[in-house]
Amino acid sequence: MFKINDNYLKLPGSYLFSTIARKVNEFQAANSDKSVIRLGIGDVTQPLAPAIIQALHSAVDEMADAATFHGYAPDLGYEFLRNAIAKNDYQDRGCEIASDEIFVSDGAKCDSGNIQEIFSVDNKIAVCDPVYPVYVDTNVMAGRTGTYDPKTEVWSDVIYMPCTAENNFAPQLPKETPDLIYLCFPNNPTGATITKTQLQEWVDYANKVGAVIIYDAAYEAYISEDDVPHTIFECAGARTCAIELKSFSKNAGFTGTRLGYTVIPKDLKCGDVMLHSLWARRHGTKYNGAPYIVQKAGEAVYSAEGKEQLAAQVAYYMKNAKTIKEGLAEAGYTVSGGVNAPYIWLKTPDKMTSWEFFDYLLEHANVVGTPGSGFGPSGEGYFRLTAFGTYENTVAALERIKKM
Ligand code: PLP
Repeated sequence: MFKINDNYLKLPGSYLFSTIARKVNEFQAANSDKSVIRLGIGDVTQPLAPAIIQALHSAVDEMADAATFHGYAPDLGYEFLRNAIAKNDYQDRGCEIASDEIFVSDGAKCDSGNIQEIFSVDNKIAVCDPVYPVYVDTNVMAGRTGTYDPKTEVWSDVIYMPCTAENNFAPQLPKETPDLIYLCFPNNPTGATITKTQLQEWVDYANKVGAVIIYDAAYEAYISEDDVPHTIFECAGARTCAIELKSFSKNAGFTGTRLGYTVIPKDLKCGDVMLHSLWARRHGTKYNGAPYIVQKAGEAVYSAEGKEQLAAQVAYYMKNAKTIKEGLAEAGYTVSGGVNAPYIWLKTPDKMTSWEFFDYLLEHANVVGTPGSGFGPSGEGYFRLTAFGTYENTVAALERIKKM
């Protein structure tokens, strides 16, 4: 008789975004005359840039001809893309990362979920609190997180590193020593960042205690301040303690097209074993990695036209971020984020819980956001708004919020 992996049953409730979708559907069914503006889910709205569309079209044409047809992609991804990534995202920034240390994938969600599989279930994880929920959820499924207390919404075997207004939403080094440290900067959901000096402290700490940092830089393209690192490999010693996750979703609009990559330096070892060689055996090699057509589109992200067009897209979203942040501040809300990230993090007014504010905003402004408590216990009392809507909708949402 087969058995299921009952760690899946430990996952609490329904997924945050399914609960939001249910609530919004119920509201719309009861209020069909109201138009709802969604500033909640982190999906982009701008179409793919012309340089990317052009690359997609010509790659499709190549696939139609036996002479230029491509079947299974190489294990790590096509060299043309890995070379472009290594040069533009690392070597031009003075970081020593080679193209054969880059593993192309179909997005950072899969990689951020699957990466824990190369580590023993005995490892203890530490996470920023609040943060992108995939890190904890996938460790729950693996059986690494202990028991869940529904009252506090805390797992017994997870080290939570609170990111609160008191520490400027930057985690402190944990008291208990972790084995795997998930860091996400610019952060989803707070929009906060850490400086290069702060990140160097984490790298030094990880090397000292023998931990691995899994650094999620999905929002790197939104960094606007000089002292914020674009990659963990800007820090000395990161090659022996860090893995980096990147996505083409938020900088280039690939949320539906799917492309990302993971960097594992060959110096990152457990005894004699290179983590690089473990990840080379990951799920997705050849069969589920990104298709040739998509990897060609990814290459276009690094062309001169691609860079210019995508900088304009990022600027478009960041104009929304500024509009939301300044509008909310004018309306008397306490807000942060929105400078190096497309996320605005606001303190709920009048001591409302995150979900109370969700309902209040939906009811009174017909605007959808994301309750901060969905990202970890320290997110309670906070709320996330995203800059990924259209400018018109963003302005309209702000007008409504100001009138509440
Ligand atoms: N990492 C973070 C921090 C995210 O917020 C997201 C998506 O919202 C992802 C990874 C997933 O990226 P992808 O679309 O490449 O799977």
